[in-house]
Amino acid sequence: MKIIRYSLNRLTPPTATDADPDVRHGDLSQLPAGARLLPPCAPTKIVCVGRNYAEHAKELGNEPPSEPLIFLKPPSSLIASGDAIVYPKLSERVDFEGELGVVIGKRARKIAAADAGGYIVGYTCVNDVTARDLQKKDGQWTRGKGFDTFCAVGPCIIRNEDANLRNFRVQTFVDGVKKQDAPITDMLFGVNEIVQYVTAVMTLEPGDLIATGTPPGVGPLLAGSKVQVVIEGIGILENTVIADNA
Ligand code: MG
Repeated sequence: MKIIRYSLNRLTPPTATDADPDVRHGDLSQLPAGARLLPPCAPTKIVCVGRNYAEHAKELGNEPPSEPLIFLKPPSSLIASGDAIVYPKLSERVDFEGELGVVIGKRARKIAAADAGGYIVGYTCVNDVTARDLQKKDGQWTRGKGFDTFCAVGPCIIRNEDANLRNFRVQTFVDGVKKQDAPITDMLFGVNEIVQYVTAVMTLEPGDLIATGTPPGVGPLLAGSKVQVVIEGIGILENTVIADNA
């Protein structure tokens, strides 16, 4: 089963929660014609891991961290597969970051790594879009990571029990050219360890999303770019970049 959220109302925003009466749940293979695909989860918070692949830490001139480096993206940044990433006027350097997303299935607080699997509903694809210039300028990452449309998620969730986690590879393509390709076994901190680390700090709720970090190969997007994050066994998260004309 490929779990999706969708709406038959084309005006439903990608940030809609499950309290919205138009939001429906289903399987990707049974998406009704004309339906609007939504992000497959409605997180109260999006927890991201920075520098979780040694080669990516190095490519941006950073040492690999000795413990997970976490930060938050706001739920207002969510978009679904097929939605546009809006290139902000405030930035001159917007990067893609293809990542494996972990979706929480039940309230999780102070969870041991060995028990983490019981709190994970499944996995999805994430593009942790980043205004790299603002991230560097600000020192902390809220602005560079937090623009509306900067968290693309989807197209679906593969259930934990159906996932062959160790076989997952994260691949990112820009205009059809492969830019990132790494097995998730290259992560410095694995999924269970990350759940333990995060839940030692904050309670995770059903639908909350953890983006597990990006492999090497990050690079710029331009208005008009088509970016795809592909994890075989999950699906293809596809978005096009548009200029901010507002
Ligand atoms: Mg990232």
